[in-house]
Amino acid sequence: MKALIFSDEPKNAREILTYLRGKMEMDVISTEDKELPEYGAQKVYFYKDGFVDNLSKFLADHISKNKYDFVFISSTNIGRELAGILSYKLKMKCMPEIFSFEHGGKTITKRFFHGGKTVVEEESDFHMFTVSAGICEAEKTDKKSDVSNINLDKSNYKIINVKSKNTAGTDIRNAKVIVSIGRGLGSEENIKKIQPLVDELHAEVAGSRPVCLDYKWLSEDKQVGLSGKKVRPDFYIALGISGQIQHIAGIRGSKTIIAINKDKSAPIFEECDYGIVGDLFTIVPELVEKLK
Ligand SMILES: Cc1cc2nc3c(=O)[nH]c(=O)nc-3n(C[C@H](O)[C@H](O)[C@H](O)COP(=O)(O)OP(=O)(O)OC[C@H]3O[C@@H](n4cnc5c(N)ncnc54)[C@H](O)[C@@H]3O)c2cc1C
Repeated sequence: MKALIFSDEPKNAREILTYLRGKMEMDVISTEDKELPEYGAQKVYFYKDGFVDNLSKFLADHISKNKYDFVFISSTNIGRELAGILSYKLKMKCMPEIFSFEHGGKTITKRFFHGGKTVVEEESDFHMFTVSAGICEAEKTDKKSDVSNINLDKSNYKIINVKSKNTAGTDIRNAKVIVSIGRGLGSEENIKKIQPLVDELHAEVAGSRPVCLDYKWLSEDKQVGLSGKKVRPDFYIALGISGQIQHIAGIRGSKTIIAINKDKSAPIFEECDYGIVGDLFTIVPELVEKLK
């Protein structure tokens, strides 16, 4: 069995290669990345100046010519657009947003439904999939891939404006420890009250959607959840976060979840490994003292 993996984000390509390693042979197409040839693909193809038009044309030809059994496309904006076009062009049924794939005669995949509350396991005859970011932690192998560059046709797309979003600090998807704040923090001003815990744990700060999008106490790139980032830290500490399904969808990859909430019936207590019922402004200083 042989698969083609496509991602415009080399980080996602590395994760998918690691996840599928041992299950089948793989080629990968992505943007230039020094490390990508160390993740177990037979062939690595790099492209430049790829847009939906020239990439879809190239990929459709490449997939037909090489007769791949499966195509895995990372679920980025461009990846999702390409999956739709390729599914139509190649008459390949595409299943979106999988986070688990097994093939032993039958293809069995898993994906979230109902905003992340339900996991559905499906048997299908699909051959194309979009893959959620963070399917596993990427790990290198000793084997080196053959590398070549792709010359894409000139695109008819023109970017007419790029406006940078307000971002700050490091990518929370790489954090080992996250202190995450919710509406229960009360105000932006109160961030300084949890800072000693952040410092003590050498943590990154993240937040729920209201905190990042509505109140803007944190920048948008710090939002965890279904419509934010999916994180996989060793420790995820939720302060004043109720634990709605859309938030939980972003933290399921965490190794240990600790929650502090003053409402003992908050749904976060059904998801966490350790829960403390109480006022975060009392408990956080006590934790800091103990950590010291
Ligand atoms: C399509 C869609 C996508 C969404 N995507 C996301 C997403 O990606 N990420 C996300 O987070 N949300 C998302 N949401 C919103 C989500 O449904 C919730 O509204 C949101 O997660 C709630 O945020 P919160 O837990 O900070 O606030 P709340 O639900 O208001 O919870 C605040 C909690 O703080 C507790 N609290 C208050 N004071 C204290 C105190 N002093 N000490 C301890 N605890 C205290 C309260 O008991 C309460 O449980 C999405 C919603 C939709 C419809």
